[in-house]
Amino acid sequence: MNKITFIVILVCITVVTCFQVPNVTVEVRGEDEGCKAFKQSFPDSKRVVQEIVLRVIDLLYKNRDQAPDKGTVKVIVRPMDGVAYTANNEINFSSTYIAKVIPSGRVKEEMLGVLTHEMTHVFQYNVQVPGGLIEGIADFIRLRAGLAAPHWKKEHGGKWDAGYQKTAMFLDFVDKKRPELVRDMNYSFRLRYQDSIWKKLTGKDVNANFDEYQKSF
Ligand SMILES: [Zn+2]
Repeated sequence: MNKITFIVILVCITVVTCFQVPNVTVEVRGEDEGCKAFKQSFPDSKRVVQEIVLRVIDLLYKNRDQAPDKGTVKVIVRPMDGVAYTANNEINFSSTYIAKVIPSGRVKEEMLGVLTHEMTHVFQYNVQVPGGLIEGIADFIRLRAGLAAPHWKKEHGGKWDAGYQKTAMFLDFVDKKRPELVRDMNYSFRLRYQDSIWKKLTGKDVNANFDEYQKSF
């Protein structure tokens, strides 16, 4: 290989693998109380969402290059039932829900928390992963971002994959004992989920880990 060919190959590899900060669009479709609260809390919403994107990627991956390229990430705030949902790279966030949170006095924190949870769905790998674990990882990232909801607490009983904060608290416990667990798990889910991942990464199966967690508080 001559020198020029080598340089061309090196540049190509760099362009292909180099992380690009995803583009973000934010659209507020309405004039209700929730839409107003969103606009008031985040006058520079595009920058806020971009920061959430980077925070989530840094919590999910050891290296930003490992994150999937999702193109432009869209956030739409509009009146609807429920809290929020994510389909591929589009997050729909309910202004009806935002309005309900206003009286709590922590609407901004809650909006950041919900956006962090949904943004995790945009960037996490999910090949045949149990739904409870997917939701647990999304709340785990929210927890590690310092945005846990005040009512979250460790609970006795239940199942490890009950989802949301129940699974998030369990993951937090195991990840503290075995650092990088959630990052390693998530990265392995680009291939597919297997129960054996627990034993492989922690030396114990998931139920033994959950028993240990249950006895820890
Ligand atoms: Zn979710």
